Amino acid sequence: VPRIRNILLENKAWVAEKTEINPEYFSELSKDQAPLYLWIGCSDSRVNPNEITGTALGEMFVHRNIANLVHEDDLNLMSVIAYGVNYLSIKHIIVCGHYGCGGIKSALTDQSFGIIDGWLVKIKKLIKSRKQDLDGISDETEKVNRLVDLNVIEQVRTLSEIDFLSNAVAERGITIHGWVYQMGSGKLKELVRIDGQSTSKI
Ligand SMILES: [Zn+2]
Repeated sequence: VPRIRNILLENKAWVAEKTEINPEYFSELSKDQAPLYLWIGCSDSRVNPNEITGTALGEMFVHRNIANLVHEDDLNLMSVIAYGVNYLSIKHIIVCGHYGCGGIKSALTDQSFGIIDGWLVKIKKLIKSRKQDLDGISDETEKVNRLVDLNVIEQVRTLSEIDFLSNAVAERGITIHGWVYQMGSGKLKELVRIDGQSTSKI
């Protein structure tokens, strides 16, 4: 059986398992969604937000792209944020990077990756502005991971400067978190947090 057939069969098994535990599982879920968390993460296949946080279906609103970037002119992401904040019940926005990120590694090279180059421009700018910091790290893996951290902090900063979002943070008690997923251990690490009162670097 080709693999694509397998995943359709897996779906059948999953439906059977869920309904056996709770016959109303799908009818309850289909009524509405009221997620408290908005996840902005990397598309990397190893960083599934529900799986690594133990959250169930309905708990997390999700946007993913290469290297978890926040571009203010990204209509896709801006719509996800506006919908989540204004029409759903989002209380926490989590920007989550991950060590060993392919997008971050690519941005550190001089190689061209075609259409992706335009997407990576924001990381290239960050590399320039943090050149001294990064040049001081001789180990390549360490350098990539340092840039992963800096990139998360930078995207949280960009979020905090979006007008409609900063109003929501101040008035409705929304918190913006910057986290990194440590690929080698599976553990999440907090890097930065912004709420209505303060900016705290952890
Ligand atoms: Zn990645």
